[in-house]
Amino acid sequence: MTDIGDYSEQIRLRTLLKDDEYYRKWFTKEPTIKVHHTKPPWRLFVQKEKGGPWYKKDLPTYAKAFAAVKLKLPEYWDMTIHCNPQPFKPPVVRIGKQKVWNPLPPGHLWCAYCRRPTVFKFYRRHPNMRGLVMEGEMRCQICGVRDKFLPHYPITGGWPLHVVRSTP
Ligand SMILES: [Zn+2]
Repeated sequence: MTDIGDYSEQIRLRTLLKDDEYYRKWFTKEPTIKVHHTKPPWRLFVQKEKGGPWYKKDLPTYAKAFAAVKLKLPEYWDMTIHCNPQPFKPPVVRIGKQKVWNPLPPGHLWCAYCRRPTVFKFYRRHPNMRGLVMEGEMRCQICGVRDKFLPHYPITGGWPLHVVRSTP
């Protein structure tokens, strides 16, 4: 029997960082925030156990959030470093002279605020939002942003991307 995988399940940050060299490279580079903000911009989301609640903590620098990820990645089920004030484009990979968007795992969309691929779903109540939410709209499983408010990119190709480097 062939295991085709369960794509309704969200990929974990530890798998992304392990299996996707382009995402890993991008994630380990300190991002620049260009928009004005008054509160700590980085929000560390952690899910300690599979299917458990997501906890969040706001942090003033990416370095602090990154250090927390490094420390807890082997222990916690899933995590992300979310940016409150600014959306981010997916990583770009250069293949020869061509530039492409880094592909996403099947069934995932790019959450520009969570800065990673997540699985979007329909909600009546979203764990990260107070009260009832507008129904009939796909939301990021972690932060609750609506798919229709996110920019979309022409992402194609299988994940993870393997670029065959030609030898000179
Ligand atoms: Zn999100």
